Amino acid sequence: MTRRSARPDDFWNQPLTAPWASVPLVRDASGTEWEVGADGRNPLKVRGRLEAAVDHWIDRARAIPHLSQLGAPMPRPKVHYDLKGGIAGMAATMVRPRALPEQWIRIHPELLNRYPVRMIQQTIPHEIAHLVVDWYLPKVREPHGPEWMAVMIYFGRVPVPFHDMKPTAQKRGRAVVAAEQALLFEAPHGRR
Ligand SMILES: [Zn+2]
Repeated sequence: MTRRSARPDDFWNQPLTAPWASVPLVRDASGTEWEVGADGRNPLKVRGRLEAAVDHWIDRARAIPHLSQLGAPMPRPKVHYDLKGGIAGMAATMVRPRALPEQWIRIHPELLNRYPVRMIQQTIPHEIAHLVVDWYLPKVREPHGPEWMAVMIYFGRVPVPFHDMKPTAQKRGRAVVAAEQALLFEAPHGRR
């Protein structure tokens, strides 16, 4: 495929994709929402697909024109499957004295089981875009500001800070329902 060299006005208006939107959602007998077919998948294989997506987006990130010239190539982050609650994913950058920063991604394993396509195709590029900004533009303070949006658009993905995945039904207290209206992909980032 030939990529047009994007002029600034083209860049902000290029078509973006949301391939996960074509995956229907269903509810099981207990009212818990799933992507169709997700309950039959092997969780370890799903994690393998997620890790492959991390590799893909890191390769793309290391090739972003201009931006990737601003520092050493960003490392491939480790992925931890340790999030709970309504946060789908979280990007963390730890700045270290006299050393390159350390970066990792935290993923909600239960949401990954129920929404594998959304988590892999939406949450992963979202979090990688945060790591890109943290790595190459460490002075940026606004998590979902124009720099992060530009990386998302370069990735061809809609730059929205929210997701539509639902925490499990049994956890629905008033606080959770309220939080659901503002479901961010992540909590505030590691160093912010
Ligand atoms: Zn975010």
